[in-house]
Amino acid sequence: SKSMPEILQEVTAMYPHNIALSFYGRKMTYGELQKAVYGFAASLQKNGVQKGDRVAIMLPNCPQYVIAYYGALAAGAIVTQVNPMLVEREIEHILNDSGAEALVVFDALYPRVKSVQGNTKMKNLIVVSLQPTESEFSPDKKFDAFLQEGKGQFSPVNIEPEHDIAVLQYTGGTTGRSKGAMLTHRNILANVIQSYEFFKERTKIGQEKYLTVIPLFHVFGMTACMNFAIYTANESILLPRFDLEEVLNTIKNEQPTVFPGVPTMYVAITNHPRAEEYGIDSIETCNSGSAPMPVELLRDFERKTGAKILEGYGLSEASPVTHCNPPFSERKPGSVGIGYPSTEYKVVDLATGSKEVPAGELGEVIIKGPQIMKGYWNMPEETANTLRDGWLYTGDIARMDEDGFLYIVDRKKDLIIASGYNIYPRDIEEVLYEHPAVQEAVVIGVPDAYRGETVKAVLVLKAGKTASEEDIISYCKQNLAAYKVPAVVDFRDELPKTNVGKILRRALREELRKN
Ligand code: ATP
Repeated sequence: SKSMPEILQEVTAMYPHNIALSFYGRKMTYGELQKAVYGFAASLQKNGVQKGDRVAIMLPNCPQYVIAYYGALAAGAIVTQVNPMLVEREIEHILNDSGAEALVVFDALYPRVKSVQGNTKMKNLIVVSLQPTESEFSPDKKFDAFLQEGKGQFSPVNIEPEHDIAVLQYTGGTTGRSKGAMLTHRNILANVIQSYEFFKERTKIGQEKYLTVIPLFHVFGMTACMNFAIYTANESILLPRFDLEEVLNTIKNEQPTVFPGVPTMYVAITNHPRAEEYGIDSIETCNSGSAPMPVELLRDFERKTGAKILEGYGLSEASPVTHCNPPFSERKPGSVGIGYPSTEYKVVDLATGSKEVPAGELGEVIIKGPQIMKGYWNMPEETANTLRDGWLYTGDIARMDEDGFLYIVDRKKDLIIASGYNIYPRDIEEVLYEHPAVQEAVVIGVPDAYRGETVKAVLVLKAGKTASEEDIISYCKQNLAAYKVPAVVDFRDELPKTNVGKILRRALREELRKN
């Protein structure tokens, strides 16, 4: 096993002039990237950063992200990925929980970070300027100047891929407090190689462009975009945010071949009035993951754009990918596909977690493979609950069919229990998405004195379409057993989402509790 910086070194030796990164028309070759990576690593060393120290990165997608990530790994540091949307209290939590020594942040967030620095151990604050003009504040250290500090005199560090942690991947916190999944160098490279094996027949070395708009701080962007592109000597087109027009124009002008995304991104594209004008069918694979892709939306997207979606599944704890629909043989819409190479998986009974359930029955998915984390940082109890006998307990409820295709039904924590019935929000959401006026739908359980919980649907309607609460309820009555029909329907202009576009059920539930 190797480390990702060793992979970068090998790729650079073979393809020094290939474009590695592209950012608003600026291109960086593998040779240039490698030089910057060693520059960054050398400067970290010059500033006292040693093997095992944590280096936090809090940036949107930009070349400096990739440089800092690979530079920190090369220096033997543990990259701590920090979501740039976090506010002071959350930033302080991650910095203290990880004990980060250095943080790379971009100028707009500098004041936010500076205000909590005093409560942390963080010594080095390195600021990336993404603005064309100088900002008025005086940052601690500018990224470009920092790159020069070590004069490129990088002393190689001995890394043991099986043992050494590469990344602390804080979980999205969709269901609760964010935990730092410890991913080793081996975990990360294993998942990249598994992806390569899975997509080998359609992957060209050094000739493809990946549209990288899912954030790199998220484990899906880290592996499926950044690390996979580097492993295959391909080009990453970095976009710092999902701006629909910008994404469509980038597709039109650059003709990327791969576009990993989350369902909300594909939905936004489908709803664009002139989506067919952007040559979206030049994309060979749209890898959808992170959240369920409702079947109706998958079909709409493919009809309208001519591009093909392959839905997969994964989680931070698995670096992240464990399942995907196959690129050539039969795929099954609504399923997250089959297991990745060298990945074992079972569906076990929800109560005890020990007995495998028969095909077609619901249970919790458990997974074993080289991509499964070492544990949670500083959380031995959580680790013991989640990793049992080498199996990762995902907390996701699913069923497997006779062919080994997995269907994620819901998360254990999202299950609604009303009058003793188990209700899976996803069942109801699939029906709501079939309603012609519905653009986005989420279903949550709300406390109810009589039934324990009742079902509430929160909807965003399509522009120009109308529907009343009664319309929606009667539509659900025609398509769902009575106990699943929402008791309340709420209409919104938008739904609360995480930075990767996952609908935040937790935020909706908390809102209710406050009212
Ligand atoms: P936390 O674990 O802290 O609540 P999070 O769920 O956002 O946060 P991630 O590791 O980013 O943390 O997300 C992994 C979860 O996303 C999976 O456990 C699963 O519930 C969900 N998920 C991923 N892909 C899919 C998919 N294709 N279909 C349905 N759910 C998916």
